[in-house]
Amino acid sequence: MNVSLSLSEEVERMQQGKGRRDLDISVETCLEHFVLPEKLGDLVFCNSCRKKTRTKKQHTFAQLPKILCLHLKRFDAARNKKIDHFVSFPSYGLNMGGLLSHWCEVTRLESSGLDGKKSLPSAKPEILYDLFGTVNHIGNMQSGHYVANVKVDDAWYHCNDQHISYAKEETVTKAEGAYVLFYIRR
Ligand SMILES: [Zn+2]
Repeated sequence: MNVSLSLSEEVERMQQGKGRRDLDISVETCLEHFVLPEKLGDLVFCNSCRKKTRTKKQHTFAQLPKILCLHLKRFDAARNKKIDHFVSFPSYGLNMGGLLSHWCEVTRLESSGLDGKKSLPSAKPEILYDLFGTVNHIGNMQSGHYVANVKVDDAWYHCNDQHISYAKEETVTKAEGAYVLFYIRR
């Protein structure tokens, strides 16, 4: 499963002061925002109301995969600019459980004050993922270079064309230009 996460929206949120400026963008907040309901610009005909109504759309995860590929959209085509911001991501225990459709619905009901709580447990399920690879882009929109980090038998390797070297986990998570993150379900 490939999920493309918008970084331009995260940068906008930071600039509008909705996020805390001193915090990095994190993959967890990108995912939380990915499942937020979005107001649609055009009115949509509702069969129950028999008229055009304001409508929202929402992405959620009906099922979670064995292998999860998170794509950070660093190439902002609209502005012809690469988004260079650092994005933090966990090497262990990325919890995707709260993003399942059922739990997004529970959260929505709770936050809107509707009574969805009574029959449902309040603890969200933990569905954890561990990092096993990254693709990083170094450079700008016009020119650049891709490198990769991959974990084999608990050791990290840095792959740069034909050069392969040992890498530390913290250099993998702190490296510049993380572009695609590969996670495996625990
Ligand atoms: Zn309606």
